[in-house]
Amino acid sequence: MSRILVVEDSLDIAEGLQRSLEYDGYEVSLATKAAHALAVATSDHPALIVLDLGLPDRDGYTVLEELRGRGVQTPVLILSARRDEADKLQGFRLGADDYVTKPFSILELMARISALLRRAAPAAPATGTAPAADAAPRPGPISDEALRERYGLTARQTEVARLIGEGCSNAEIATRLEMSYYTARNHTEQVLAKLGVSSRAAVGALLFGQG
Ligand code: CA
Repeated sequence: MSRILVVEDSLDIAEGLQRSLEYDGYEVSLATKAAHALAVATSDHPALIVLDLGLPDRDGYTVLEELRGRGVQTPVLILSARRDEADKLQGFRLGADDYVTKPFSILELMARISALLRRAAPAAPATGTAPAADAAPRPGPISDEALRERYGLTARQTEVARLIGEGCSNAEIATRLEMSYYTARNHTEQVLAKLGVSSRAAVGALLFGQG
C-alpha cells in the first residue's frame, strides 16, 4: 500500500485530503510544519508528498529544496493557493513533479496523484512475478453512500447520478424521477459540479470505476 505524506497547515484541507486518500486505499502521514515534513519524509519513506507552500515555520519551497539536496527523489506534488506562473516555475525548478492550485477539485488531485505514482513505480520485471498486491489501487464502482459522504450528493442527486451513469438524458431523468425537465437539468448540473467532472460520460466512468 502506498503511503502519502500530506504537508499542509490548514487542518480542514489536510483532514479532507486524508479522508479522500484513505478512502482510495492509501496510508497517510500528516505534517503541519516544514521541520516535521522533512523528518517524516526521510523516516516514513512515503511514495509521494503533497506539499503546501505557505507553512507556518518555513516556505514549502525550502522543504522541496532540502529534500532534493539530500538526494530524496520522492515525487512531490505542490498544492498551493499561489497561482502565478513564476511560483509554478520555481516549484518545477526545485524539483516538483506536479503543481495544483487551490481551490482544487479533489477528483483531479486524486487522478494526478495516481498518475504520479504510476510513473514513479518501478517497471514490472520481465518474468512477470511482481506480486499483484503491489499494484496501485484500481478505482472500483462507487457506492451510493460514498456519493453522499464523499461528494456531498443528496439522496435525490444520487438517483440522478445513477441515471446519468446509465446514459439517460435530462428528459429521461425527468420522466423516470417524475420531476420537471428544468429540475432534472438543475440536478444534473449539481451532480457534475459536486463530482468535479465536466461531462455526463465522465459521471458514468466515475461511478463504474473506469475513471
Ligand atoms: Ca498553508
